[in-house]
Amino acid sequence: MKYLPLFFDIQAKHCLVVGGGSVALRKATMLNKAGAIITVVAPQIQDDLKVLVESGAGQAITGNYMSDYLGGMSLVIAATDDLCVNEQVAGDAKARLLPVNVVDNPALCSFILPSIIDRSPIMIAVSSGGGSPVLTRLLRARIETMIPSAYGQLALFAAGLRQRVKDTIESESGRRRFWERIIEGPIAEKVLTGNIEQAQSMFDEALNERSQKSQGDVALIGAGPGDPDLLTFKALRLLQSADIVLYDRLVSDAIVGLARKDAEFINVGKARSNHTVPQGEINQLLVDYAKQGLRVVRLKGGDPFIFGRGGEEIELLAENNIPFQIVPGITAAAGCAAYSGIPLTHRDYAQSVRFVTGHLKNNSCDLPWQELVAPAQTVVFYMGLMGLNTICQKLMEHGRAPSTPIALIQKGTTPDHKVLVSDLESMPDEVLKHSIKAPTLIIVGEVVSLQSKLQWFTAQ
Ligand code: SAH
Repeated sequence: MKYLPLFFDIQAKHCLVVGGGSVALRKATMLNKAGAIITVVAPQIQDDLKVLVESGAGQAITGNYMSDYLGGMSLVIAATDDLCVNEQVAGDAKARLLPVNVVDNPALCSFILPSIIDRSPIMIAVSSGGGSPVLTRLLRARIETMIPSAYGQLALFAAGLRQRVKDTIESESGRRRFWERIIEGPIAEKVLTGNIEQAQSMFDEALNERSQKSQGDVALIGAGPGDPDLLTFKALRLLQSADIVLYDRLVSDAIVGLARKDAEFINVGKARSNHTVPQGEINQLLVDYAKQGLRVVRLKGGDPFIFGRGGEEIELLAENNIPFQIVPGITAAAGCAAYSGIPLTHRDYAQSVRFVTGHLKNNSCDLPWQELVAPAQTVVFYMGLMGLNTICQKLMEHGRAPSTPIALIQKGTTPDHKVLVSDLESMPDEVLKHSIKAPTLIIVGEVVSLQSKLQWFTAQ
C-alpha cells in the first residue's frame, strides 16, 4: 500500500489554495464542501473562485505567494501552472509539517486527493496512487451507478438507531447480523424510497423480535470449480458476513480469502493431522456453531447439491430447526466444459447430458453402463481418474465405439487448467504419458470433438 487512505476533518479549519484558475476553483469547491475556511492567493483570481471563498468566510488575496501565508493553516493545495511556485509551496509546507497537495504532481505531494463518490455521510474514495487518473475516473463512474443516491439517507437512518440497537442486542456479532438483515432487507428498501415512517415502525418490530432470541444460521455455499470470478454475488455477500467458515479441500485459497477477515476458518478437508473430518462430524459442527448464535458458512467446491453431500448436511440442520439457505454454485461439469470449449449439449451431437460419479466401489462396475452408452448423450464423470481404465473398458464393452472422443480436464478454470483429448481406446495409455493433478473431470461423447474447433475462442 503506497498511501494510507484517511478522511480528514477540516470543518472550520483554515486551508490555503495557491492559484486562481479553474483547477484551483475545483479544489477550493471540494474544501468548501468539507467546511474549510479557505484562503486563496494568486496574482489573478477568477471571479467565481473569489465568490466561493468569500461565501465560506475565507479571503481571496490578489498577489504573489509568500510563505507567510502558511501561518495558521491546516492544509495546503498548490494549483498554479508555474512549477517553480508549486515547488516552493510544497517545500515550505513540508518544512512546517503541513500536509500539501500539488495538483498533477504526486512527487511533490504529501497527500493525494482521491476520486470520490459522495453519498454523505457515506463517502467512497477511489485512488490509483496517482498512477492512472483515467482508470480511477472510470471506476468511480461504475461505482456511482451501483450505489443508489439515497444511500446517504440510509446511513443517517442507521446512525440514529445505533445506540438503541447497542442497548438491546448484547453481542457484537448479534448486532452485526441484525444490521446486515436490516440493510439488505425490506426496511432499507423503505428508507431508500423515502418511506421513513413505515421503515421506522418495521424497524421497531424487528428489534423487538430480535431481542427475544439470538439464533445463528447456516449458508451452504457453492464456491464453483476454482476461478473466484465464478462465485455468485450472493455467495460473496454471505461470505463477507460470516462468523465462521468451514471449507473443503476443493475450495481455492483465493475464494476462502474473500470471506470476512476476522471470521474463524476451519479446513474440514485437511484438519486434524491431515485427515478429512468425517461427514457426520461436519454435520454436527454446523449445528453446534449455529446454536452458539454464529453465522456459519459451509463453503463447498462446485455446487453443494451435485456430488457435494449438501443434502446430508441440511438434514441435520432441519432436524435441529436451524435456519439455513443454499447458494448454488457452478458445478465442475459446467465450469470445465465452458473453459475447455466443449458444449455439453449440441443440436447435432448430444441431446442430453448425464452427471455420473466415477468413484467405483472396490473397482466394481455397479454403474448403469447400458444407460451410459445411449447415443446422442454426453456423460460427465466426477471423481473418475482412479477408475478411468474401467470406465473406458466398460463403455466399449457395452457398445460405445472405441473411437468415441473423451476429454480429461485437470483443475478446470484454475491457472492449472489443462485438457487432454483422446478416444476411449487410447485414453488409458495417453494418461500415463502425463503427470495429472487432481481434481479431474472426464467428459465422454461426440461433443468433445468440438473442443479443437472452439478452444481458441474460449481459452481464458
Ligand atoms: N460439488 C462439486 C463436486 C464434488 S465431487 C461440483 O459440483 O463440482 C469432487 C469431484 O468434482 C472431483 O473428483 C472432480 O471430478 C470434480 N471437480 C471439482 N472441481 C474440479 C475442477 N476444478 N476441475 C476438474 N474437476 C473438478
